[in-house]
Amino acid sequence: MPTLTIRNPATGAVIDECAADDAASVAAKAAAARAAQPAWAAAPLRERLAAIQRFRAALVAELDTLATTLTREVGKPIAQSRNELNGLLPRIDFFLAQTESAIADEQVFDDGGMRERITHVPLGVVANISAWNYPYFVGCNVIVPALLAGNAVLYKPSEFATLTGLHIARLLHAAGVPKDVMQPLVGSGEVGATLLAQRIDGLFFTGSHATGVMIASALAIRLVKVQLELGGKDPSYVRADADPKAAAESLADGAMYNTGQSCCSVERIYVHEAIHDAFVEHFVATVKAFKVGDPMAADTYIGAITRAPQLDVLDAQVADAKAKGARLHCGGQRLPGPGHWYAPTVFTDVNHTMELMREESFGPIIGIQKVRGDDEAIALMNDTRYGLTAGVYSKDEGKARELLARVNAGSVYWNCCDRVSPRLPWSGQGDSGIGLTLSTHGIQTFTRPKAWHLRSP
Ligand code: NDP
Repeated sequence: MPTLTIRNPATGAVIDECAADDAASVAAKAAAARAAQPAWAAAPLRERLAAIQRFRAALVAELDTLATTLTREVGKPIAQSRNELNGLLPRIDFFLAQTESAIADEQVFDDGGMRERITHVPLGVVANISAWNYPYFVGCNVIVPALLAGNAVLYKPSEFATLTGLHIARLLHAAGVPKDVMQPLVGSGEVGATLLAQRIDGLFFTGSHATGVMIASALAIRLVKVQLELGGKDPSYVRADADPKAAAESLADGAMYNTGQSCCSVERIYVHEAIHDAFVEHFVATVKAFKVGDPMAADTYIGAITRAPQLDVLDAQVADAKAKGARLHCGGQRLPGPGHWYAPTVFTDVNHTMELMREESFGPIIGIQKVRGDDEAIALMNDTRYGLTAGVYSKDEGKARELLARVNAGSVYWNCCDRVSPRLPWSGQGDSGIGLTLSTHGIQTFTRPKAWHLRSP
């Protein structure tokens, strides 16, 4: 049996050794999930709801242990690991409250002789290939509604969040979800690739654009439903009428929270020239005050970079920005190890010839560009192949809404950023992906509508 070595990215130390899957065990798990799914779907919804309610209670009961594991394996500051777990609870509550109505049978026509109905049938066996940056969020956005809707789930956590993935599976099993209905697959991307070859009815992926496109291409020939959440290059625009200090504090948090490793991190900032200098002063002061260090310390705000190769991406973006004339205000380099560390980095005098303003950074670095007005800002915000989120800071709600209507993004924010709500659909445009999670649409997406034409004799 192959094994997977788990390391702490903050120290480089080995923290665990897990038994991993191989091609034979993945095939066996897929077959077991296929066999177990019909009985799970046939059980009354209230039994599935009760299991997820018990899962929620177990998350609360074990929160400290789960947060510690998460911090040790991905390098996320412990306060932010706790925030992720606490933030998961209202998402689960939303799914518990909304699933029954979201997938209820609908009678859409009745003229006395002919009736038309829609039922929402589970997809069947759903595969979830997940990411390490918010493993509870992105994992459970799929796993929880998919299970509630009556699907079996084959769950491949990122190898960098394996222990968290195994915790999620353990707690679901203890809560009453049958083992064959919810199966974790342990291993690297190779195990994910093996999963694609199994008979599956839906593939829900969070990760990089390159892997997402490869997965969609591989499954297109078999017409498997595919959803991709691929991150972005999310912009925010600070208008001349905004409060520069409040906007700077909000956006520094949006850019650097989770050490910048969020799909909806603020990755580009455009500031009106009238308040640019004041904004930059507050922004840099806020970033310099962020405590970088031991992720287990309660007051740490910037933790480790989870994957070592990302350091090369950050170095390359910094070198390119410097070579093209950007002005560095802080950071701009790796920090000494052991482990993987990058100093929070702020550039101004940037433009769209620079990689920093075009390609996902996925780290604690940001470019701030001066603009002359709304039209220039909107043109720059839309000058991207991505489209996950975008924000406008302004005192004028009407103006902000007018501008946000012109931005190509799945989610738009007025005077906020880096925010996800269970009540709203989470989706991207362009290279940020296809499909959605969350909201009632993110429950129905784990079903297919079946049309019933019923003529009375
Ligand atoms: P990947 O896209 O490589 O990984 C995402 C998931 O896909 C992981 O579970 C991974 O497994 C799996 N995987 C990798 N290769 C294959 C394959 N050939 N077939 C099937 N599954 C596969 O992203 P990374 O984690 O390597 O991160 C790279 C970059 O992606 C980041 O720097 C960031 O820019 C972006 N990203 C975006 C995220 C988002 O929130 N949208 C989340 C994470 C990353 P394993 O981890 O075990 O290799």
